[in-house]
Order: sequence, then structure tokens, then C-alpha cells
Amino acid sequence: MKGWPSVDQIPPIVNPAMNGMVEVMRGCGRGCQFCAPNVRTARYMDVEKVLQEVRVNVAGGKPSIWAHSDDIFLYRVEDKRHFYPNTDAIVDLFSAIMGTRGVTHSNPTHGTIAPVIADEDLLPRLSPILRAGPENWIGIQPGLETASGDLLAKYMRNKMLPFAPSEWERVVLEGTKAFNQNYWFPAYTLIMGLPGETEDDVWATVRLIDTMEKWLGEKLGSRAHFVSVPLSFVPLSVLSREEFFDVGREMTEARFALIYRSWRHTVKEAMYFSQSVKSVPPYLRPVLRFLVSVGPMIILKYIADWGKSMGFDVDKAFNIPGRREANLNSPCLFLLPGSPSLVWSGLAKPVALRGLTGSNPVPGAVSE
Ligand code: SF4
Repeated sequence: MKGWPSVDQIPPIVNPAMNGMVEVMRGCGRGCQFCAPNVRTARYMDVEKVLQEVRVNVAGGKPSIWAHSDDIFLYRVEDKRHFYPNTDAIVDLFSAIMGTRGVTHSNPTHGTIAPVIADEDLLPRLSPILRAGPENWIGIQPGLETASGDLLAKYMRNKMLPFAPSEWERVVLEGTKAFNQNYWFPAYTLIMGLPGETEDDVWATVRLIDTMEKWLGEKLGSRAHFVSVPLSFVPLSVLSREEFFDVGREMTEARFALIYRSWRHTVKEAMYFSQSVKSVPPYLRPVLRFLVSVGPMIILKYIADWGKSMGFDVDKAFNIPGRREANLNSPCLFLLPGSPSLVWSGLAKPVALRGLTGSNPVPGAVSE
């Protein structure tokens, strides 16, 4: 087959797919240089073709449908210059999926952040259709990648359209707030080791994670949720001639801090959600909470020890270079909402309570 297959040339699934997956589009169009889907022409599956696959999944015992795309908010996008989302098309797609007999749940796989604040009606229209709520968070995986202005401008200057690369921090913060307000849970991916990445670039990303943790907590309290996952750079697409990132050889203090802060926040989320699991009898919930929190904490302690073994200062993950307001001598207990539990975070330091909120102002952020 020459070139990329057209929608008509892509055969529908004939057996249920993992996670009830149905493909709703291929390709993207935002042009991030490290990304393989970037080089593919964007194609959108007709709703009827999607429903054909939904019915196969439901009949095969998969009533929870994952709508797979590289950026769900580009589904049938008409504004290919600024990428304002085609909200009607996205709403129609999920209305059709959720309206199919037997479907109990649906969520997208991937999506970018900017569209959810470019059209403020997008998530408020989608969430009721997906029956999002405190007991049904809608998961999505957006690429946050980096907070470095230089790397954003060099490798992914369309990722934040219709906003400018210089607005990325505001887009990430306000976008995460919009996700959370509508009961969406973003699991952000970060890239470590993009070609030319400097320590300052990485510290900028650590600062953004730190700011987001505090600012969101201030704005949303216990409704503030995200995780971030640092991934190693893999040479693909336009950057296919570059070198793989080598974790063993190229680990630095800032990269270690990014891993540590990301993992630490994931521990916090794991503890929060482990106490709200309703399918477990109340008397077993402390056991579940213990099991869910202890494993990640052992890993957190291992990560801290690993950093120290390389000569890194773990405190710098909190007293971040370049931060305007370094207030943290790393008290490291989490207070679980609705629970008196105080849980050790894995840092071998004197402890004092640090809540989920802080006082860092968000540069450029739109206030409520
Ligand atoms: S927005 Fe995501 S899918 Fe699209 S080109 Fe960038 S990294 Fe790839």
C-alpha cells in the first residue's frame, strides 16, 4: 500500500480489542518533531465505523470503550491554522459511543491541553455525556513534555495552538484546572533528554510541576489531580538521527529531581484514590491504603537513595534553583483529605506538616 491508508482502507476490528479500544482517528497535524504520528496525514473515522467497532467490543464483553487517537481534540478539526477544536464533532462522537446499547463507560486515550481552554464549553459539554463525576473520573494522557521555552519553540511550537509557546505555563495550569473541574484526570508525559536540553531547561519543568501541585491545590482543594511521568527521549520522526537518551550516562541533578518530584506526586495521588475506593468494604480500606501507599513509598525511598548515590542533593527537588519563592525545608508528610492519617513521604528528614496548598503566584495565570 502506497502512503498512509485512507479511512476506507483501514479494516474494522472483528474481535474485541484490549480495553475495548476503538480507533477514532490516525495522525495528528501539530508537527512535534519528536513524534511519529506527526508525520502521518490526519484521518478521521466516520461515527458509523467507530460504532461498528464499539458493538464488536460490547458483544465480546468489553463495555468500557477507549476512544483511541493521537489528539482526540483534533477530531474532525476544521480550523487547521489555529486548531480551535470542532466541539460539535467531538460531542457527537462521544454521544454516539455512550448511546450504544451496552456501553458503560468511555474515555479518550490521548489529547492535548490547549483545546480545553481554547473552547471553554468543550469539557462542560463532554463531561455529562461521559457521566464524569467524583466516582467516574475521565482519564486522558496529554503530552506536557517540557516547560523550557527554548525547547518548546524549537521542537513543538504548535503543541499549544491556538496559544503561543510563551503561554505554555499558563496553558498547562489553566488546562489542568479545567480538566479537574470537569472530573478529568490528566496523566502527563514528560520527555527527558531532548537534543540540546540543558539543566536550566529541566529545572524549568521541575518548577512547573512544583507550581502546579501547589496552585491547583489552592484553586481546587481535593479536586486537584494529575500525575506526570518522565520518559526518556527516543529518536523518531524529524529527530530520528539524534541519539537515544542514556539514563545511566546522562542523568543529572535536575533530571533526578524531575523523576523524584513526579514519582512523589504519583504517591500522593495513589494514596488519595486508595481511600476512596467504594468497592472495597470499609474495614478493608485501611489495608488497601497501606498496600497502595507502601509500595510506591519504598520506590520513592529507593529513588532518593539512588540520587544520593550519584552525589545529588535531594533537597534541591524542593528548593528548586531559580524559583522565586523557595519556602520548603522539605517537610514531607501528606495529610490525606478526610483522614487523620499522616504518611511518611520517604525522605529521611525531620517532618512537619505540609498541606497540599502553597502561596506561589502563577505567572501569567488567569485568576478566577
Ligand atoms: S500533539 Fe502529540 S500526537 Fe500531535 S504531533 Fe505533538 S506529540 Fe505528536
